[in-house]
Amino acid sequence: MSGVNEIRSTFIDYFVKQGHEAVSSSPLVPHNDPTLMFTNAGMVQFKNVFTGMEKRPYSRAVTAQKCVRAGGKHNDLDNVGYTARHHTFFEMLGNFSFGDYFKDRAIELAWNLITGPFDLPRERLLVTVYSEDEEAYGLWKKIAGLPDDRIIRIPTSDNFWSMGDTGPCGPCSEIFFDHGAHIAGGPPGSPDENGDRFIEIWNLVFMQYEQLPGGERVGLPRPSIDTGMGLERISAVLQGTHDNYETDLMRALIAEVAELTNVDADGPQKASHRVIADHLRASVFLTADGVLPSNEGRGYVLRRIMRRAMRHAQLLGAREPLMHRLVPALIREMGRAYPEIVRAEALAGETLLLEETRFRRTLERGLSILEEESAGLTQGASFPGDVAFKLYDTYGFPLDLTQDALRARGIAVDLGAFDAAMARQKAEARANWAGSGEAATDAVWFQVRDKVGATEFLGYETEKAEGVV
Ligand code: ATP
Ligand code: MG
Ligand code: MG
Ligand code: MG
Repeated sequence: MSGVNEIRSTFIDYFVKQGHEAVSSSPLVPHNDPTLMFTNAGMVQFKNVFTGMEKRPYSRAVTAQKCVRAGGKHNDLDNVGYTARHHTFFEMLGNFSFGDYFKDRAIELAWNLITGPFDLPRERLLVTVYSEDEEAYGLWKKIAGLPDDRIIRIPTSDNFWSMGDTGPCGPCSEIFFDHGAHIAGGPPGSPDENGDRFIEIWNLVFMQYEQLPGGERVGLPRPSIDTGMGLERISAVLQGTHDNYETDLMRALIAEVAELTNVDADGPQKASHRVIADHLRASVFLTADGVLPSNEGRGYVLRRIMRRAMRHAQLLGAREPLMHRLVPALIREMGRAYPEIVRAEALAGETLLLEETRFRRTLERGLSILEEESAGLTQGASFPGDVAFKLYDTYGFPLDLTQDALRARGIAVDLGAFDAAMARQKAEARANWAGSGEAATDAVWFQVRDKVGATEFLGYETEKAEGVV
């Protein structure tokens, strides 16, 4: 059984042998795209190469890319701790062809890796293709010899990728692994496809068209390939589990949480261990790439991640700040592959300690209010939005932390009332605003403020719909 670190190298070495340039992960804060909150896929650093705006000295590349999906269009934050396959921070392995090889070679390379070096049992593999992509259907039959019932045609945008409203786009084909009938969930395209039985491990994107501004779609003269495979998911498969959190790397982090809190990692509070391990990675990697917790934009997403982890630390009975004490374990596991976290060790530790110390001042009080206000509520009930707002405004509870705290009991926050409370506060702020005396400037200030919402919520809203893989 290989560890996560070896699996990453196996992927990279395989594609290097096939003539791909090994390119380092780009930072989590994309330099080339201010509209994107965090790097959320391997292709992000190559966007301009795909459009032809930028030239590189190679036409094939392979990467292990740091990704965060906790804001904007791809937000997996709410899934963490509740599905076996989602993280906020994860690594996406990918091979890329910039006008070099195309669909047939991409499918062949992928199939040969998973059935060769990775040696996955063929009978557990199935794939999806875009319903109009007969070519991909035929290639999977020819190259992999898959039977018809394991090549599933999907008509939705899940299997059609586009970079934006215009630009490169094309069908994609996803490879799934069947973890077995003992796990709940249906195959892709079925009503219960979101279970953990059939897990999507690899997405192959065939960039073959260009979407023009007028709505017309034309063929690209030199089609390209973009793929993304979740390292944690393929590691789970290779380590004989359906659960990313059971892989060696995540287990090592979870063991450290268990050790420091003295709470059984596999007992009734196992979701808390998982959330903490996941959010630790996101927190340290984001800090290492220059994001600091704050009240807006990227910094607010980081603060939400940190505070949610800190509430779970509190649930595990931690009396003192916990998160900063976990940093060395993460560095042991991932510092060789990502030296930037070694360099950022002190900064990440201090940032976590400061944030946790501050948040702890209000955490207990906030939690007891949450407790009191929800005491009489049963499954399906709704939690008062004005209380959720007070928790946010006075006790520093991001809305999703309150939602997460109530989720296990099937209680949802009344979002309409939450927004109304937020709007009321804005109106009061406006009424109390003495102003600069220059009416025009003040008007612009409030227009901007109303348009973007409270600054704290930039985290939810500023990202434009952006690249999938
Ligand atoms: P899912 O449908 O499971 O949410 P996705 O279709 O959103 O995945 P893609 O955008 O196709 O994922 O990303 C490529 C690959 O990255 C996926 O096939 C998967 O292996 C991995 N991946 C995506 N999101 C996550 C995540 N939140 N945590 C871990 N791995 C992920
Ligand atoms: Mg997803
Ligand atoms: Mg998917
Ligand atoms: Mg996908």
